[in-house]
Amino acid sequence: MIKEELLNILACPKCKQKIVLDQNGKFLRCDHCKLKYPINDQGIPIMLVDRAEKI
Ligand SMILES: [Zn+2]
Repeated sequence: MIKEELLNILACPKCKQKIVLDQNGKFLRCDHCKLKYPINDQGIPIMLVDRAEKI
């Protein structure tokens, strides 16, 4: 599970705004861009626009 402190320092690489953890805990979501960023097996978020999926 991703830590709260980590969420606070992460920003969407596209719009630089705050991201939120998706309800299932498997994605970080940018509501501004309507994109979701995957979190890998080690719990590390992949903050790349190329890897993001549309919500
Ligand atoms: Zn964004």
